[in-house]
Amino acid sequence: MWHSSEMKAYENGDYILPDLPYDYDALEPMYDEQTLRIHHDKHHAGYVNKLNAAVSKLEQARKNKDYGSIQAVSNEVAFNGSGHVLHTLFWHSMKPGGGGDMPPEMKSAMEQSFGSVDGAKSQFAAATKAVEASGWGVLAYEPVSQRMVILQCEKHQNLTIWGVTPLLVCDVWEHAYYLKYQNNRAEWVDNFMDLANWEFAAERFEEARSAMTAGRK
Ligand code: MN
Repeated sequence: MWHSSEMKAYENGDYILPDLPYDYDALEPMYDEQTLRIHHDKHHAGYVNKLNAAVSKLEQARKNKDYGSIQAVSNEVAFNGSGHVLHTLFWHSMKPGGGGDMPPEMKSAMEQSFGSVDGAKSQFAAATKAVEASGWGVLAYEPVSQRMVILQCEKHQNLTIWGVTPLLVCDVWEHAYYLKYQNNRAEWVDNFMDLANWEFAAERFEEARSAMTAGRK
């Protein structure tokens, strides 16, 4: 769905600013034209430009084997990448004449996940209002329980891009390595790289890719 013409957010190797699915004044008076214009044309465009710039910096770093700025650049990717993903979803999270009834499948999934539609809506609103500082309220599909959950997100990211499927993970909490490596996390990570199960990662990659592209036009 990320690649449908409606939500085109990446093209020819670059992240791109997707078109709005409605006119700038279509959400008046709840969401005003001037705010929407600035939000989409300036803010969202800014995330896209900075994300592409960060991706180029990483390409350069790999070429030069120079990872001196890796923490800052990884943070730029997470912040701007998550900003890009969340804003792309945000434009589609609203529509002229929205609110009101929802499709019956959504209604029963919500009842299953939250007890009632009303409970889901009030939790979503309460959680969103209570986000500390800047961030998002997020209704999400949680694949372990195969139910919906409501999350608060501070800023955009905390070092992820929303919607990714993890393929291979390495624990760097101290409990994961301290007994053997003490404060030498780098040595633990280097050794983890010699343990990495790339077959497992490859399987998950294929699974995730085929799931994500199943409905692609
Ligand atoms: Mn925003």
